[in-house]
Amino acid sequence: MPGMKIDLHVHTRPLSPCSNMEPEEMIREARRIGLDGVCLTEHHRLWDPREVEGLAREGGVRVFQGVEITTDQGDVLVFGLDEELLHVVPVEELRARVQEAGGFMIAAHPFRGFLLFGVSQLRVDVEQACRRPIFRHVDAVEVLNCRLTLEENEMARKVAGRLGLPGLAGSDAHRTEEVGRCITILQKEVDSVEELVAELRSGRFRTETLR
Ligand SMILES: [Zn+2]
Ligand SMILES: [Zn+2]
Repeated sequence: MPGMKIDLHVHTRPLSPCSNMEPEEMIREARRIGLDGVCLTEHHRLWDPREVEGLAREGGVRVFQGVEITTDQGDVLVFGLDEELLHVVPVEELRARVQEAGGFMIAAHPFRGFLLFGVSQLRVDVEQACRRPIFRHVDAVEVLNCRLTLEENEMARKVAGRLGLPGLAGSDAHRTEEVGRCITILQKEVDSVEELVAELRSGRFRTETLR
């Protein structure tokens, strides 16, 4: 099936110190497994745009800049914001900045660990899960993240469905073997973050587990 295969959620070092992967390795792997594009979403840190261009040129896949920001209500993937926010931000504040910049926000792994906290015993149902404040401030929900359990991803998918928010996929790769495990396939090819945001807004995509 045609379309642009893109991994929306990837961490590289040194900007994400929790990652095991150099950006060049990540891009080599992305190309090897047939991805068309990858998004650098380091924790709170932004790349120099010239370096991103250089990576894309040498690697033969498209590379887009995003960022993962920890808010008081959970982690959010952001596209289209050019300012670096180095601390935990209230989600309302992030929302206002991103809206002003014309960007896009995705609630990242919203139910990571939710079973560990024993909420399953309390039978947190979809209805209750929908009331989490984060969902009032995002454009979409990550419903497929390779580091999560089936149940955690499933809960996110149900909540997104109930709220009428688009569901996106990203690997959240911190190691080469995780690159591209969960991908979003855009119907249309994009060449810039602006075009990417427009396609995410349009809803013309589907999600897939690649490996
Ligand atoms: Zn995260
Ligand atoms: Zn992440």
